[in-house]
Amino acid sequence: MTVISRPERSAPERSLSAGELAVTRQLLIHGPATRGDLGERLNLSYASMSRVARALIGGGIASEDLEPATAIGRPRQILTAVPSARHVVGIKLTGDTAYGVVCDLFGEVLGSAKAALPAAVDGVVPVTGVVKVIDQLATKLARKVPSLDGIGISLGGVVADQSIVREGSFLGWTEVDLAGPVRERTRLPVIVTNDVAALAREQLWFGAGRTHSTFGVITVGAGLGIGVVREGVPVEQTIDNGHLLAHAPIDSNGPLCGLGHRGCVAAYLNREDIEAQASAVAGHPVTMADLIAARAAGDPAATARLDAAARALGHLIATFAGGLQTDCIVLAGEDAAALTDSAGLNEVIADRLRPGPRELQLCELTILTTPLTFTDWARGAAVTGTQYALGTT
Ligand SMILES: [Zn+2]
Repeated sequence: MTVISRPERSAPERSLSAGELAVTRQLLIHGPATRGDLGERLNLSYASMSRVARALIGGGIASEDLEPATAIGRPRQILTAVPSARHVVGIKLTGDTAYGVVCDLFGEVLGSAKAALPAAVDGVVPVTGVVKVIDQLATKLARKVPSLDGIGISLGGVVADQSIVREGSFLGWTEVDLAGPVRERTRLPVIVTNDVAALAREQLWFGAGRTHSTFGVITVGAGLGIGVVREGVPVEQTIDNGHLLAHAPIDSNGPLCGLGHRGCVAAYLNREDIEAQASAVAGHPVTMADLIAARAAGDPAATARLDAAARALGHLIATFAGGLQTDCIVLAGEDAAALTDSAGLNEVIADRLRPGPRELQLCELTILTTPLTFTDWARGAAVTGTQYALGTT
């Protein structure tokens, strides 16, 4: 007989004060630092910094060590964040599967698991069944860590109030409260967020945010996703679900997108649209993987189609960076590598940045590419859950 015991789940910890949170973020994003350096960076007085350091050490979020004395003078005290201070489960929901990871405070993945979601009934995946699957995954993942401090859930769609799935087309959901029932069942802090917004949060702490306070995130794959961090603040919900950028015109003689625009960014870049156009020409179903394989074999039509997609991505990156006024765009998604392989992308960006004859200003864009497997999506949800559990949202 197998006895399934519920792993220990810790009571929600006290949220951190604004000062404690600011110092924790500094330690996570930029690494260990002295009290003096932190106080200076965050404009905290000696007394405030001492109070914050004491609270963080007392709460187990940070530890303090004396720097080995290298010269004459007092050895300096170095504050370091403690990875095991928090453990949070992140879940990425697709239309049929829940992908889960459990991460520590540093976003390190300590375990992963996945489970099938219940089948849709009349096009709608039953919410109670999804809540049950999430609870089971969290219970399984909790066995890998001493205790759990929260759950972050992400999905493609529109999410309001960090809880309500306003539009979750993969699941057939409209106006579904997901955080409430999961919180009730697991007795843990729960946050629900758009999946690209979660990825932007993850990048803020552990990626582009280390060097840029403002940056954009583009995901290319099953859908085209847009995420934004402005002056260190992640934008929770885009105003347009990314439409203004995704459907910007590129060529009035180009192919049609699913919405009927001729030659918009999505018409060239959206995987569904690319596959539909290639299939129509071939007279049989053609997938993105088929196109990539055909290009590798030297097929000119597949090469041209992927090059056109890469050029559209170049335009999207340039327009996004210009609108957001950032020189950093993070590119992720299953199809990103296939498009960055193409010279068209860099050619378009270089041409968009090219100064006129009497212009001196030359901007350079930093394009960071990051892998995006289901584990990476789930990790974004976990980092969002950690930020929520710490009280940053
Ligand atoms: Zn369009």
